[in-house]
Amino acid sequence: MDGYDCIDRAMICVTCLAPTESLYITYTNGHIQLTECSACHAPVDKYVERDNVVLFIDLLLLKPGAYRHLVYNSLEASLRGEASGSNAVEPGPGSPVQKGALGSLGLLSRLWILLLTFEIYLSCATEESRYALLLQRRSQGVAGWSILDGIHSRSTNFQYTYFALRSLLDILLFHHLLQYAVIRICGWGRDVPHPRQVLSYTILLSYGAKIFPVLMLIWPYDTIISLDIIKWVANLYVIEALRVVTQLPYAAIVRIFIAVTLVRLLVVKSMMAMFLTGGDVQQTINYLVSECVNIVPRHMWNSSG
Ligand SMILES: [Zn+2]
Repeated sequence: MDGYDCIDRAMICVTCLAPTESLYITYTNGHIQLTECSACHAPVDKYVERDNVVLFIDLLLLKPGAYRHLVYNSLEASLRGEASGSNAVEPGPGSPVQKGALGSLGLLSRLWILLLTFEIYLSCATEESRYALLLQRRSQGVAGWSILDGIHSRSTNFQYTYFALRSLLDILLFHHLLQYAVIRICGWGRDVPHPRQVLSYTILLSYGAKIFPVLMLIWPYDTIISLDIIKWVANLYVIEALRVVTQLPYAAIVRIFIAVTLVRLLVVKSMMAMFLTGGDVQQTINYLVSECVNIVPRHMWNSSG
């Protein structure tokens, strides 16, 4: 054969997950041939030839192949590219095949920063709307004191710092707790070369659905209810993406997800209340109690409004 394997090992067939030696073969005339899976006889990774728009749409549609292409094959290609000092795997001169969709792992960090920025912006915008609702309810005599009063009584700079810290803490906890639970508690990833990176990338890709509400802030409708719905849709994306990538049963992933969500809620709320009160324990407890009191009426009010 006058071609050569572009990538070797640690790659999988995106259809049946069988390991593969290569994704495609490049011949000296520049012709590319996708590798056929020895187990299911389909091309091991058809996304190698697809452009990023198709890949993006398939990610939105939660197509398992799209996630597996990115978090296994493309990530592996990028890691190899970094190890050899280039940005991505070069399939050969004149090859029509895209480079590793990640480009380099630097892109992964940049995507996290972008996601965090959106998260902070959304956080500011939704809390602003919630505060407006709270004031409206209070004028009708149906709302008590809330942590939002504490936040909005401070300077604008303090408010931005507060929301930035809250979003950062929330994303860090979510990411690391999920990684810990899946790898340490469920014992997943012993036969995966880079389990932490694979999970990190999966979480990033699926968590990205959370930034869709940005569009709704541009064309606002009944913002708060829709934002809450989209948050839950984003959570479903994370659960489904984790299942597609790890092959763990739904029950295990849902249990992990609920536990991580509860820990996040508790830790983030407590730490942010501490931050808001400057470490005053009694006032922090008052804030937390007011949050618990407000949770039920807020949602009842949302669904009726
Ligand atoms: Zn296969």
